[in-house]
Amino acid sequence: MESCGWAGKILRVDLSTGKVAAEPTGPYADRIIGGRGIGQWILFHELDPSTQPVSAENKLILSAGPLVGTLAPGADRLSVDFNNPQTGGVGSANAGGHFAPELKFAGFDAVVIEGQAAEPVFLSINNDEVKILDASTIWGKTTWETEDLLRKHAGDNRLRVASIGPAGENLVSGACLIVDRSRSAGRGGSGAVLGVKKLKAIAVRGRRPVQIQDPDTFIKQARICWHKVAASSAMNVLREKGTIGVSASKHVRNGQLEDWPTERFDRIRWPVWNKFEISRLACFNCPVNCSHFYKIAEGPYARLAGEGVEANTIRAFGTNLEIDYPPAIFKLSTLCNQLGIDIDFAGAVLGWAFESYQRDLVSSQDTNGLELDWGNYEAAIQLLEAIAHRRGWGKFLAEGVREAAKALGKGSEDWALHIKGADINESGMRHDKAWALGISIANRGGGHLEGAPLLLRLNASIAPDISNRLFGVTDVGPINSYEHKEKMVFWQQRLKGAFDALGICYLLSQWYGLDALGIEDLVPLFESATGRNTSAEELMLYGQRIHNVEKAFNTLHTDISRKDDYPPVRFMRERIESGPFAGEVIHEEEWNNLLSSYYAIQGWNPETGLQPDSLIRGLGLDSVADKLMRHGCI
Ligand code: SF4
Repeated sequence: MESCGWAGKILRVDLSTGKVAAEPTGPYADRIIGGRGIGQWILFHELDPSTQPVSAENKLILSAGPLVGTLAPGADRLSVDFNNPQTGGVGSANAGGHFAPELKFAGFDAVVIEGQAAEPVFLSINNDEVKILDASTIWGKTTWETEDLLRKHAGDNRLRVASIGPAGENLVSGACLIVDRSRSAGRGGSGAVLGVKKLKAIAVRGRRPVQIQDPDTFIKQARICWHKVAASSAMNVLREKGTIGVSASKHVRNGQLEDWPTERFDRIRWPVWNKFEISRLACFNCPVNCSHFYKIAEGPYARLAGEGVEANTIRAFGTNLEIDYPPAIFKLSTLCNQLGIDIDFAGAVLGWAFESYQRDLVSSQDTNGLELDWGNYEAAIQLLEAIAHRRGWGKFLAEGVREAAKALGKGSEDWALHIKGADINESGMRHDKAWALGISIANRGGGHLEGAPLLLRLNASIAPDISNRLFGVTDVGPINSYEHKEKMVFWQQRLKGAFDALGICYLLSQWYGLDALGIEDLVPLFESATGRNTSAEELMLYGQRIHNVEKAFNTLHTDISRKDDYPPVRFMRERIESGPFAGEVIHEEEWNNLLSSYYAIQGWNPETGLQPDSLIRGLGLDSVADKLMRHGCI
C-alpha cells in the first residue's frame, strides 16, 4: 500500500564502501513517528557506546517528518541527529528552508550517512537516482560558493543544498550544516561530523508529491491552521520584526552584565528593521515569513546581502561583544553562514576570548596581533575566520570554551559559558528560572530550543484554566521564582519533541504565544495526512519518548548525570548588577530543589538524574532499556 504522509523510504549511504540502499520507513514510523524521532531512534540503536563523535563510526541522520512537504503551515523542518562532538552525547539540530520538503519530494523520509569517504565527496539525490560524487572542486569553498557551484553543475536553480563550510572541513567543534545559504542546523557540531566523513554537501531534487490519505479533511484543517497563525498576535510580531521583535536580549560582555543602554540597543535594532531590510523570505509553505533579507548599501561592508540578523545574532555579536555597528553584526552573522559555524558557538568563544584578553590573561602576542577590546568588530571578524580555518590562535579556540579554558586555566573556567561542553549564548538565565532550567537540562547540551519556555519572558498572561491544562497548576508564579518551573519545562520539551517529529516549525507553536498552534491543531493534520489515529496526549507522549531516547543516549555514551544539569558558574555566582532584574542570580539550594522536582515529574532518579528501567519500559521503549542494560548503564 502506498505510504501517506511519510514518503515511505529511508536512504542509507555508506561512504566507506560507496553502497547506497533504501529501506522502508514503516517500522520506524510505527515506533516514533519521524523527523527527530527517527533520527534519534537510529542513532541510539545503531551506535556502539565506544563510538567517537569525530570518526568514521559516527552516523548522521537527516530526516523529515510526515507533515513535511504538505500544505500544513511551516511543514519544512529538517532534523539533523548525530553523536555530538561537543558533549560526546546526543546531537540534534533543526533547520528550516526548503531542503526537507525536497527530500520528501525525492521519495525519502530520512538519509542515514555512515562511514567515511577516502576523498571529499558530495551526495546527489535526484528522485531515485542517488550518487556519491567527487567534491574535489568544492572542498575548501564556503557554503554559499558550494551551493552556487552545485546548482550550476546540475543546471538546476531549484536544487536544494545542505553543505559544510571551511569550519566543518577543519573539524571545528562548533561547525554546522548550512541549508539554503542561511538556515543552520546549528547546535552540536554536525559540520565536524560531516567534515571527518569528507562529505561536503548533500544536493537534493525531487518531483513526487507527498501522498495525503484524506485530502479534503487535510486541506480544511491546514486552512484552519493557516488562519490561526495569520490571526496570532505573537506571529504578527514575528512576521514584522523577526525574532528580534520579541527578544530584548541583553547578554553583555560575555554575560558579565545584563543591562545595556536602550539607545545602544536601538542603534542596532532600528537600522536592521528600517534601513537594511529589502525583502522578506519564508521557509517552505510558511505564512509568517519571519526571515528578513538585508542589504548593506555603504561603508566597509557595502553590497553585503543575505538573510538573518536574528535575536541570537545580536546577542552573540552585538551586546555580547559590545558591537553596536549593525553592518559589522551582519557581517559576522553572514560569515557564520558562509564558513558553516554555529552562531551561538561563535558568540560564546569570542566572548570568552575577549574577556580573557580584557583580564590580561592573553595578550596580543597570543592573539596574533588582534586587540580584543569590547566593540572591536574588525578583530572579531578576523578571529572568527581564524577559528574556522584553525589558523593561529583560532586553532586554540576551535574546540570551544570548555577546552580553551582548560588549556588556559588561571580561573578562565569561570567565564567559559558552556553546559555539558556545549558553548552557549543565552541571556536572562539568572532571572528567568524556567528558561534557565530548560537550557541547563537540555540533552544536547545547553540551548533554549529543547524545552526552555518563552511564555513568561514574552509577558504572556496565562489564564488559570489554560495554565492548569498545560502545566497542571493554575498559576506558575513569577518569572524569577523557582516554583512550578519544572512543569513548564516538562510541557515544553514534549511539545518540541512532537513538533520536531511531525516536521512543523516550532516558532509557529505555543512556545511563541498561546494564540499560535497547539498540539491539538496538529492531531487532525496528522490523522488526515497519514490515516493513523492519534490524540494530543499521544503526540505529547511521542515527544516524551524522543526526549527519553536522547537522555538514554547520553547515559550510554557519556557520564552525563545530575552533576551536569547546572547553569554556567557565572550565573550562579555573579548577581545582575543593574537593570530590571538587578540582584538576580541562580541560588544553588533552590536550583537543587528545582532539579529534584524536574526529575520527579520526568520519573527519573532524583539522586542521579538518570532514568530507571521501569520508566523507560513504561514509555514503551523496551529496546532502549534492553540496550542500556546490556551495557550495564541501568
Ligand atoms: S516561522 Fe520563520 S523559521 Fe519558521 S517556518 Fe516560518 S519562516 Fe521558517
